[in-house]
Amino acid sequence: MTIENDPMGQAIADYHKHGKAAQLRVLSPVLEDDEIPVKTLFRSLQEMPAIERVALEQARGHILDVGAGAGCHSLALQGQGKPVTAIDISPVAVATMRERGVVDVLEQDFFTYDGPRFDTILMLMNGIGIVGTVSRLPAFFMQVDRLLADGGQLLCDSSDICYIYEDEDGFIDLTGVEGYYGEMTYQMQYRGVKGSTFPWLFVDADTLREQAAACGFDLEIVLVGDHYDYLARITRRRG
Ligand code: SAH
Repeated sequence: MTIENDPMGQAIADYHKHGKAAQLRVLSPVLEDDEIPVKTLFRSLQEMPAIERVALEQARGHILDVGAGAGCHSLALQGQGKPVTAIDISPVAVATMRERGVVDVLEQDFFTYDGPRFDTILMLMNGIGIVGTVSRLPAFFMQVDRLLADGGQLLCDSSDICYIYEDEDGFIDLTGVEGYYGEMTYQMQYRGVKGSTFPWLFVDADTLREQAAACGFDLEIVLVGDHYDYLARITRRRG
């Protein structure tokens, strides 16, 4: 990958090397253009939101950190003596994680990764967003089933972005929205270079629960955040 299709990886590498990075912009046809402060990808345990700290506390056994980015969660888990494997599709992010001391890092696409089974699969910072669309959730759950050990858990956080359709009176009107309202198309831009567009999913807890159930999984809400966000634990249905 080059900067053309991996703006975030480049931003991560720059911040790691120089302690600062240029603006990492997120472009979307639906939402206003936004920015990801690159520093947040390097957050310490103390700087993490409660949802992430609780997820790290609940992570047990051999942990798979999916879309690990700059490795903040893998480093925190390693620091607690928990065995963790970090995977990321970005070679630059993977190289940075190795330099930062993440011991077990693999350059892998989660959807095609064929590894050992894990007791905890971790997908944080809206990590389940990489699924892209609701229609891809069944294929995603097949992969989770392949990678999850007996008694294992998937811990993921997401936001219900219905609030972007809220009017001045606080009513949420989704009638004009085509398809599932949490399906976004994004494009990242770094140092003036735009990456390719990619689908990104913000899934609400009820939709995720329904889709999980259809694939043989149970969903439990572990924690509700302060802005339409939640941490879910997904496990194989018992019995
Ligand atoms: N979880 C990290 C980083 C989030 S950014 C954090 O909380 O800070 C999302 C990361 O997912 C990026 O580093 C991106 O390269 C990676 N990613 C995107 N699609 C992926 C896929 N299919 N498999 C593995 N990693 C992926």
